[in-house]
Amino acid sequence: MRITDVRVELFDAVVPRVFRWRAGLPGSGTVNGNAWLIIDTDEGISGRALAARGPLIQDLVDRRLREMLVGHDPLLKEFLWEQAWEIDRIEELPIYALGLADIALWDITAQVAGLPLYKVIGGYRESIPAYASTVTFETTEEFLHVADQCLDYGFKAIKLHAWGDYRKDAKLCQDLRAHVGDEIDLMYDGSAGFDLMESLYVAKALEEANYLWLEEPMREFSIEAYRRLAEAVLIPILSGETSDGAHFNIADFIVRDAADLVRTSTHYKGGITGGLRVAHLAEAFHMRAEVHGGGLPNLHLACAIPNTTYYESLVDAVEIVVEKGIGRDGCISPPDVPGIGWDAAPN
Ligand SMILES: [Mg+2]
Repeated sequence: MRITDVRVELFDAVVPRVFRWRAGLPGSGTVNGNAWLIIDTDEGISGRALAARGPLIQDLVDRRLREMLVGHDPLLKEFLWEQAWEIDRIEELPIYALGLADIALWDITAQVAGLPLYKVIGGYRESIPAYASTVTFETTEEFLHVADQCLDYGFKAIKLHAWGDYRKDAKLCQDLRAHVGDEIDLMYDGSAGFDLMESLYVAKALEEANYLWLEEPMREFSIEAYRRLAEAVLIPILSGETSDGAHFNIADFIVRDAADLVRTSTHYKGGITGGLRVAHLAEAFHMRAEVHGGGLPNLHLACAIPNTTYYESLVDAVEIVVEKGIGRDGCISPPDVPGIGWDAAPN
C-alpha cells in the first residue's frame, strides 16, 4: 500500500455562538477557515484529519507534508511520525499541525483493519462520560444557570473556564460547589491566566471546595513554577496541555513533580501516535492522562486508554446546546464504523 496524494480541502465553518475562554484572550470570532487534510492511497482508501487554520495547513502540505508522505506505506506511522519531527525542527510547526498527518494515517489504518479506530489503538471502553466544559459567561448567575441545565441533562461533571480574575474565579468555584452539592465532579481551567501567587490563591480555594483538579493556571514554559505550585497545595494539578514536545516534555513535568495528572490530546501532542505515547508514559507513573478537547480523534483516544476519566464537551451558550452524541446518561461513544468515522459522526 502506498500514498499517492495529499490534498487539502479548505472550507469556512461558521462559529454558531461566539465565545471566549477568559478575559484577555482573543475570542472565537465568527468564522473559522478550516480544512480537511486528505491522504489518498493506491488501494482506494483515503484518510482524513480535520484542521483549523486551513490556509496555514495548505502551505505546509504544499511545501513539506506532500513530499514527506507520497510514495510511502501509510501503515508505517512510527516512521512518518519521526519524519514529522524532522520537519518540525526546520519549521517549528504549530503544535496542532505536528500530528495532523498522523491522524489521517490512523484513519487509513483503522479502515484497513475494518474496525473503529479506538479498537485498533487500544480498545478500553465503548463509551465514556463527558464533562460540560463551559466557556466564560458574564455573571455567576449565568454559570449557575448553565450548571443546572447540564446536570438536568445528565452530565455528571462540569469544568469552568472563568474570567481570569483570581479572586472572582476562586469565589465562583466555591459558589458553584455550594450550588451543586458534593456529589458532582467539578474542575477549573485557568487557561494560563495567572502567575504563581495567583495560582496558589486559586488552588487553595479549589482545595477547600473539593475540586477534582486545577488545570493550566499558568503558561507551561516554566516547569519549576508548576513544581512549586504542586508542592504547595493538595489539589491535583493538571498540566502539560499546550507545552511543546509531546511525551518528551511531559516526561519532565512528571519526574520533576510538576503535575499530578497530565494532559494528552490528538491535536496538541502529535496526533494519535503522540497522544498514546503521553497516556502510556503517564500510566507508568500511575497517573491519569486526561484527554484535552473534543472531536472524534480525541473521543477515540479517550476510549482507547485506561487512565483517563472524561471526554471534554464544549458548552458555549447560556441556554445550553448539548453536543450531538451525548446521551441523557452523560456518556458518548465513538462511531461504530471502520476508521475515525468522520461521515458517521453526528453534526
Ligand atoms: Mg484546558
